[in-house]
Amino acid sequence: MKEIITRFPPSPTGYLHVGGARTALFNWLYARHMKGRFVLRIEDTDAARSTKESVDAIFEALEWLGIDWDEGPYYQSERFDIYREYIQKLLDTGNAYYCTCTPEQVAAMRKAGMAAGGKAGYDGTCRDKGLSNSEGAVVRFKTPLTGTTVLDDVVKRNIVFNNEEIEDFVIQRSDATPTYHLAVVVDDITMNINTVIRGDDHVSNTPKQILLYRAIGHPLPVYGHVPMVLGNDRTRLSKRHGAMSVTAYRDMGYLPDAFLNYLVRLGWSFGNQEFFSKDELVEKFTLDNLGSSAGVFDTDKLLALNAEHIKKDSKSKIAGHLMPFLKARKIDAKQDEYLESVIGTLNKRSKTLIEMAESAEFYYQKDVIYDEKAARKNLTSSSLASLGMLADRIESIEKMDEQSLENAFMEVMEKTGLKLGKIAQPARVALTGKTVSPGIFEMIEVLGKEETVIKLQKAVEFIKK
Ligand code: GLU
Repeated sequence: MKEIITRFPPSPTGYLHVGGARTALFNWLYARHMKGRFVLRIEDTDAARSTKESVDAIFEALEWLGIDWDEGPYYQSERFDIYREYIQKLLDTGNAYYCTCTPEQVAAMRKAGMAAGGKAGYDGTCRDKGLSNSEGAVVRFKTPLTGTTVLDDVVKRNIVFNNEEIEDFVIQRSDATPTYHLAVVVDDITMNINTVIRGDDHVSNTPKQILLYRAIGHPLPVYGHVPMVLGNDRTRLSKRHGAMSVTAYRDMGYLPDAFLNYLVRLGWSFGNQEFFSKDELVEKFTLDNLGSSAGVFDTDKLLALNAEHIKKDSKSKIAGHLMPFLKARKIDAKQDEYLESVIGTLNKRSKTLIEMAESAEFYYQKDVIYDEKAARKNLTSSSLASLGMLADRIESIEKMDEQSLENAFMEVMEKTGLKLGKIAQPARVALTGKTVSPGIFEMIEVLGKEETVIKLQKAVEFIKK
């Protein structure tokens, strides 16, 4: 079988948005699944709207998502010679022609066409004039006047376009730059792209591109046009619905694999399965299960999936993603074994990395900062004895494990006649400053004997004062 080669060709006119990331992901997954190649191409022919910042933002987002490319990035702005060569070939073979109609004339044709209820496009004035190049001339592609062009799409099945309705479109502007249709087809041909998965906002462009392939004499790629991602009101996802940029989700504390897992489900399915690791997606992704109905972006679902990935992903991987959030809270943590054991106590109770960083704070505090209400309720004279006893008892433990800690608490319970909660809750406040924390035993195990004893003793001092 021939090697599958897919591509992602963003226009660098803004950040990488949710829909673009999904397109990139589908193409990347398919290339990886098929052990093919994935090409990155920056479509920056529109010099006025393309920016370097946007290119960098796209790289940054792809890198965060872990979507890597085998070829490129190619820049269309560096390929004008190649486009010119193909335009010349199309002129030489009679598939294209120079047109000197002014924009005003073309606008008038459209208006007249519309008024007549017919084809609202270029009327072919220069089609058979055999004009040569001149200042301000554009090059138009000669579309067939009759017949149909069929898009055989893996998602949408057959879509038939009447050639009559496809105008002689421009392939080279008056400033000698190529248009999108020309550049994209020449690039896909010269980069050996054989599979194009993209948003269905490109369906109407496709017949023009198919006609270009035919004129150039090159086999068509496999096309798959996926429905646009919708917002919760079922209109096309936009800023109105919340954050659109991929890196905004990084900054909100989502794991890249959770985000990918969520994105893929907006247009692809594998039975009823919702949770996928990245490796599992590579293993299972094929074009057969691309869906033809639009996915609705639902932040609650994304959040739930994030919590599940935080729970299931390896602690070392989470540690890497958590570090920037710890830094942001000025927590002096290192990416080490201690951090991984901290994560082990928090991964079942954190929905985002922001939440996790916040919950991790006490593990790194020399002096516990008591929440006022929690201290007033729990660090009182009635817990003085038990906290002192607990400090002494824990100090004498040889091996800090769950069993020996449980024994220590049991002993204090027996001696004081207090229930576990009456001992554990003040201890929790003494160690974390808060009334909510990971399980008391696992937390003490991570804190270690020395830290625990010091903090319990400090709470005793606090109560005495
Ligand atoms: N550059 C185009 C876009 O960002 C993509 C073109 C294509 O996929 O053919 O929409």
